Amino acid sequence: MANREYYDVIIIGGGPAGLSAGIYALRASMRTVLIEKASPGGQVTLTDEVENYPGFQNINGYDLSQKFLEHAQSYHLEVLSQEATALEPGLDWHTVKLNDDQPLKSHAIIMAAGGLPRKLNIPGEDELYGKGVSYCAVCDGFFFRNKVVVVVGGGDTAVEDALYLSKLAHKVYLVHRRDALRASRILQQRLKADTKIEILWDTIVTAIKSQEGQVSAVDLQNTQTESKRELAADGVFIGIGFDPDNQLVPAGTKVNADGYVCTDEKCETNIPGIYAIGDLREKYGRQIVLSAADGCTAALAAAYYVEVKRAAENL
Ligand code: NAP
Repeated sequence: MANREYYDVIIIGGGPAGLSAGIYALRASMRTVLIEKASPGGQVTLTDEVENYPGFQNINGYDLSQKFLEHAQSYHLEVLSQEATALEPGLDWHTVKLNDDQPLKSHAIIMAAGGLPRKLNIPGEDELYGKGVSYCAVCDGFFFRNKVVVVVGGGDTAVEDALYLSKLAHKVYLVHRRDALRASRILQQRLKADTKIEILWDTIVTAIKSQEGQVSAVDLQNTQTESKRELAADGVFIGIGFDPDNQLVPAGTKVNADGYVCTDEKCETNIPGIYAIGDLREKYGRQIVLSAADGCTAALAAAYYVEVKRAAENL
């Protein structure tokens, strides 16, 4: 097998966690490759304003992701624009299969695939995706200038989306299933001060309706009174969290009930040499700074793991 196919560390996923792992792995002189099926940057590229990454009082999410990428590229991080299709643990080498079927071997693998937006799983959601249904206000908000939009959810994502859309839309309804928001206090304060946003408490969306192939209304139900009504809307933005993208997580890896990978304090899974970082990992808090920190932890641990393995091979 050509030498090109053997690595010290393979990183799967190019968000803040994966890029941070790349920087630390290369600084530890590990032969490293990062595999990313889309453009590197991760979910942060979809965020409008980031105000809590230390060193930046306010930075656009895409700009911050480009800074991560440029930093990793300054260490000549090899990035493969391919989809990893399987991860097979082995005793000597772990194997990552790619969509072109060329396997790559590595002592250590760092899984950093992040998560996927959670769905409501209601009638109209899939059919009207891209026709008024969206999971990203920053990406699609532009199309709803002076229109009426519904945002679903009560966490940071939904509240940020509502605030972003209020700059564009004529009216924003924030539909939340409870009577209290989960979002951070500072976002809640901004939300309450925004006169274009109306919060519909204790309310769920039960269906998304269309006219001529475009979203035209939502069916709402009050969770306390069970009363139902229809609300006219041109767009529906769903911001109810996300599920970990654990498709590549090998069988036998410990995951929790929600599908997040369980790790120790080194971000190592129960399979030696396989690490999980960022939004894929079970942990408290999902923030860019925490993902970057995970990348550091896993790369330092992986570098040590590789050194010990190499030393044992040379005995
Ligand atoms: P989240 O914090 O898990 O909140 C999800 C929200 O959606 C909750 O209010 C939840 O309601 C609601 N929800 C969940 N499933 C639902 C369903 N089937 N139907 C209706 N409502 C549903 O998710 P998130 O807002 O995406 O945030 C994820 C993580 O990213 C958090 O740690 C957050 O702090 C972080 N984040 C940070 C920033 C930032 O710092 N700038 C921006 C975005 C996200 P309940 O409250 O009733 O459970």
